[in-house]
Amino acid sequence: MQSLNQELSDYLPDSVVSHLNAFAGIQPIEVPEHTRRLLELSQHYSDLTGGAFDVTVGPVVRLWRSARANRLSIPSEQTIKECLALVDYRRVEIKGRSAFLTKRGMRVDFGAIGKGYAVDRAWEECRALGITSFMFDLGGNIRVSGEAKPGMPWSIGIRDPFETESNLGKIEIPDGWAVATSGQYERFVEIEGRRYGHIIDPRTGFPASGLAGVTVLAPDATTTDALSTGLFILGPAESIPVIRKAQVEAVFIPDKQPTELWVTPGIQPRLTLFRDAKVRILPGW
Ligand code: ADP
Ligand code: MG
Repeated sequence: MQSLNQELSDYLPDSVVSHLNAFAGIQPIEVPEHTRRLLELSQHYSDLTGGAFDVTVGPVVRLWRSARANRLSIPSEQTIKECLALVDYRRVEIKGRSAFLTKRGMRVDFGAIGKGYAVDRAWEECRALGITSFMFDLGGNIRVSGEAKPGMPWSIGIRDPFETESNLGKIEIPDGWAVATSGQYERFVEIEGRRYGHIIDPRTGFPASGLAGVTVLAPDATTTDALSTGLFILGPAESIPVIRKAQVEAVFIPDKQPTELWVTPGIQPRLTLFRDAKVRILPGW
C-alpha cells in the first residue's frame, strides 16, 4: 500500500502521478503498470457514470481545496470555468507503456479510486497467501473475505451522516465483496453559512450536493470507491441505470430530516437498523 501511495498520490511531489501532471501538454511519459491500469479503470468508470466520475477533475479539486484551506470565499465563476476547461477524461491518452495528459494544466487525481484499488491488490495478495478470513479497511474502503467468526458473516456499520459518532445500522457483506461510502460530512468547509464538500460535480465545477451519503456494495473495492463517488454526484434518480448496468447495490441517504435510507432491493435483506429511520426502495427503481 505504501508503494502504491508513493506511485499514485498527487500530494507527493515525486510520485508518478505528479510527474504525469507536470508533463501535461508537453509529452507522454512512461508509467508503471499500476498507474496505467488505474487510468484505464478510471476511464471505464467515467464512461459508466457519464463523466460524473472523472480523474481529471484535479484542477477543480485543487481550487476548492485552497478555498477550504483559506476559509475565505468560494472561487469565482471565472476561475471555476478556467479549471473546468482542463477537465476531460477523454483527453488522457494511454499508448503502450506511456500516458499523456494532452492539455497543459491538466491534472490527474486518484483520490476517489486509489484507496479502493490498493485494497483490492492487498486483498488478492492475502488470498494468494492462503489466508481466508480477513477484512481490509483503508479510510472507509472495505473489502472482506471469509467470515468474521465461524458461522458469522462480515457486517459493516453505516455511519449516521447527521450524527457521525454513531451508526444508523449495519449491512451484511457477501464473502469477497467490498463496501465504501462517500459523503460530505467528513471533509467540507463552511463558507458564508453553506457547507462545501470535497466531491466535485464535473458538470458544474461545484461540490455535489443533495445527499448526505451514498454507500455502495460491489464485488471489488475499486468499483465501490469509484462508484460511491460517482453516484454521490449523480444523485438517486440518475444513478439507477448505472447501478443496474454495473450490478451493484446501493444505499442513498438524502440530505434532509427525518433520516431516510433509499436502497436497492438487494440491500433490504442484509440491513439491520439500530434506530428509527425510514427505509424505502429507491424511488423510480
Ligand atoms: P474519500 O476520499 O473522502 O473517501 P471519495 O472516494 O468520494 O471520498 O473521493 C473524494 C476525492 O476524490 C476528492 O478528495 C478528490 O480528490 C476526488 N474527486 C472529487 N470529485 C471527483 C470526481 N467527480 N471524480 C473523481 N474524483 C473526484
Ligand atoms: Mg471514492
